[in-house]
Amino acid sequence: MKLYNTLTRQVEEVKPLKEGEISLYTCGLTVYSQPHIGNWVAYIYWDILQRALQLEGYKVKRVQNITDVGHLTSDEDAGEDKMLKSALTEGTTAWEVADKYIDIANHEAYELLGIQKPEFLPRATEYIEQQIEFVKQLEEKGFTYTIADGVYFDTSKLDDYGKLAKLDVKGLRFGTRVADTGKKNPTDFAVWKFSSPDEKRDMEWDSPWGKGFPGWHLECSCMAREILGDQIDIHTGGIDHIPVHHTNEIAQTEALTGKKFANIWIHANHIKVNGTKMSKSLGNIYTLKDITDKGFDIQAFKFMILSKHYSTEGNFTWENLEAAQNKLNDYYKFADQIWQPQDVELKADRYAHKANIKQCLENNLNTPEAIALLNAIVEDVNTNGIHKDEVEKLKEFLQYIDDALGIKLTGRDDITDEQKELIQKREKAKQNKDFAIADSIRHQLKQQGVELEDRANGTRWYRA
Ligand SMILES: [Zn+2]
Repeated sequence: MKLYNTLTRQVEEVKPLKEGEISLYTCGLTVYSQPHIGNWVAYIYWDILQRALQLEGYKVKRVQNITDVGHLTSDEDAGEDKMLKSALTEGTTAWEVADKYIDIANHEAYELLGIQKPEFLPRATEYIEQQIEFVKQLEEKGFTYTIADGVYFDTSKLDDYGKLAKLDVKGLRFGTRVADTGKKNPTDFAVWKFSSPDEKRDMEWDSPWGKGFPGWHLECSCMAREILGDQIDIHTGGIDHIPVHHTNEIAQTEALTGKKFANIWIHANHIKVNGTKMSKSLGNIYTLKDITDKGFDIQAFKFMILSKHYSTEGNFTWENLEAAQNKLNDYYKFADQIWQPQDVELKADRYAHKANIKQCLENNLNTPEAIALLNAIVEDVNTNGIHKDEVEKLKEFLQYIDDALGIKLTGRDDITDEQKELIQKREKAKQNKDFAIADSIRHQLKQQGVELEDRANGTRWYRA
């Protein structure tokens, strides 16, 4: 398996630290609002990464954090607290906001989108003690200093700070005024923020430095280390994480352990809507519910995302989604062939493309190429039908697509005996040129969700 490593700017072979096992850390959601389609893009790609690694035979030990404290409206240490802001708007507490959106996110990710649930889903608030301990150790090693609003990490103490984003740290240090913030360097970041003396926060804890809460970046460094150890194989996230969040995760962890944190850093690009950035003011922040409300299948959204490589920018439009839905319907038609083999030439070797699809995924998760290969098989089968001796092979192939791409084509039932009789009745009506009856049967079956397609070698049915 080869992946593009943001750290080295190269496509590299994955070489696990522990034989047969991959430790994988993914930055998850901040649970302060309804997730939107943009949030799910990285989830879909990193699910494919996990699936591809599993198909390679690795056991994947995966952690995906849940940020329920500490994330401010700016990714740096400024602005309002996202959780508290929502609590205020919704007239509730930050704790209730977290619980509510964790439930919604879990339902959407693992039930609606069919993403495999990571083995570990720790919440930042479950690791407060360990985060305090982490800061203590950084302090002992001389990496922190305390100012009015918190304990900060001194980035000038690391020679290679900013290596992930290739930050021009020196330019930043000499070019920016930092006097106003009290920070020593513009790139320094909070590891512990103090509660303001005149407000009681929903989420605050005692610490050796004063009452407060952990800085946003700290939870990932801390929980990755607690669950996976000092060093991990792969760390994933979105490209927006590169300059600040991941840069600071690396700084904290490597300052503490003196070891390289993650061997491979991999980042998913964004999705735009109609070519523009999603924003509240434009009213183009769509959710999965908007997709189902318009009659689309959630799998069509997933298929649309996978048709594009994780590293390139996506563009969500309703036209693109409709095209994806049509393609997906072709896949359903393909899957329904297992119930209706025909008197056609046996072409069992067409499923050998499974190996090529696997190769595409091994090559830096090339999902668009995998889907292009798959499309060719789907078209071939849908046009030509399958021989009865292909049924088992097609079933295995569908299971493979399910496992590798998370597109569920298995578990589709045969039509009922009554429906089969109706199809036969229609055949007879057609032979007798009784087209009114033939049409009314077609209509009746359509009402039941069964569509018919007349082919040279007989009628085939499918369900969208
Ligand atoms: Zn993170």
